[in-house]
Amino acid sequence: MGNATSVNTTSKPKGNHTEVTSAQSTPTKGSLAGPSTAQNGTHAGSAGEGTSKQASASAGEANQSGAVTSKKGEEKKDRKIDSAFPKVPLKVVHDNANSSLSSKKHSSASKGKGDGDGLTVPTAWNAASLIPRTRFCGTVENTNKTKDEMSRKLTKERLHVLKKQSKNGVLAVQKKNVDVVFHVTHDGNDGNVSDSTISDQIKEMNQAYANYGFSFTLTNTTRSDNKTWFHGVTSGNSLETDMKKALRVGDASILNLYTVKFPDNLLGFSTFPFDYDDAPNSDGVVFLYSTMPGGDAQGYNQGKTAVHEVGHWLGLYHTFQGGCADPGDSVDDTPPQAEPTSGCPTKKDTCTGDSLPDPIHNYMDYSSDPCLNQFTQGQAVRMDALTSHYRKL
Ligand SMILES: [Zn+2]
Repeated sequence: MGNATSVNTTSKPKGNHTEVTSAQSTPTKGSLAGPSTAQNGTHAGSAGEGTSKQASASAGEANQSGAVTSKKGEEKKDRKIDSAFPKVPLKVVHDNANSSLSSKKHSSASKGKGDGDGLTVPTAWNAASLIPRTRFCGTVENTNKTKDEMSRKLTKERLHVLKKQSKNGVLAVQKKNVDVVFHVTHDGNDGNVSDSTISDQIKEMNQAYANYGFSFTLTNTTRSDNKTWFHGVTSGNSLETDMKKALRVGDASILNLYTVKFPDNLLGFSTFPFDYDDAPNSDGVVFLYSTMPGGDAQGYNQGKTAVHEVGHWLGLYHTFQGGCADPGDSVDDTPPQAEPTSGCPTKKDTCTGDSLPDPIHNYMDYSSDPCLNQFTQGQAVRMDALTSHYRKL
């Protein structure tokens, strides 16, 4: 079925499309949904709390603030911001200073399924009247503790190196360029996004990551007029496997982006760097074509979905991962957060005792596109560390 072609010369009109479909959402692989409004607290909250609080508090977090550590089974424990990060912006440098990162390969157990397995998607979430929609990311949550501990160790080592190199307390992460191959799937005109839209999407990614160490260069575009893939691919199904098998190119350092329509309300999903060795053919980001700049996904059409998913591809978790408990998202300077954000609230603080609002403007939350505009220094260091080790970037 892979009638893929590699033509990238003509700009074709974007298909007009109404994007919420029947919404038969079946999170077969532990999707963390952020259903709208009323459902948000129950469903999403339970997803968050059931995750990594079981992770060991001795897993090597560079937590110098004496922040409260979590105990197994504890429901909510406040997680405090690590003082290891200076209160100044990161500086991005262009030299390729060697890090002291170990290049030792990590062999892991089988890829864990997300804790979202078995979650029941609320009926209202399936309603055709789902307006406004919320972000719905199908990235499979990592539950492999060994991979988590390795990621934290790599990040801690990277931070140590950066702090040694820092001047006046300014951390300087390396500037890395990522080559991008863009795979457009479409059904006739539907989804056949123009080259200029693709260019705008890459620009949006470059803008978002400019202060955090990454740039992106489009090296090729493929177009596949394949309605089966376009309408049917979702996280973890056989069509995803088929599509990637036919289209994916390059090694761990190459970012393969795929646009589809999705049958189930997803905005996108991604793989993590530490999963590459186990499943190289699955590597990449799949996202809803209408989330690209100027698309039809109302509230989610500034290209921030790709920014969010690429954050996973570079090694980041959702800011609400693990809820309020340590280690949360395994990043020390993102405030603890119990559940995903919907829309762009003026005030939100779901973890008491930390006196810090939820990071609703962080690209790794579920807020609407206009709300998202930042990463943190800790996230930049983690992306730097994990892409050095696993993607050789
Ligand atoms: Zn996500």
